[in-house]
Amino acid sequence: MSDLKVRMRDFIIAHEMTHLLESKHNEKFKGYMDQFMPDWKQRKGGLDRAAAAI
Ligand SMILES: [Zn+2]
Repeated sequence: MSDLKVRMRDFIIAHEMTHLLESKHNEKFKGYMDQFMPDWKQRKGGLDRAAAAI
């Protein structure tokens, strides 16, 4: 598995875990993501680009 795939997979896992604490994509949710994964925005960007390429 490439580093990029691992980074994206970990982002998805962190995202799902954060949903256990906050069900909506609001400021609270982003605050948790900032704590768990400070570079989540970069990782999400990679995921969005990969999704757009499919
Ligand atoms: Zn979500």
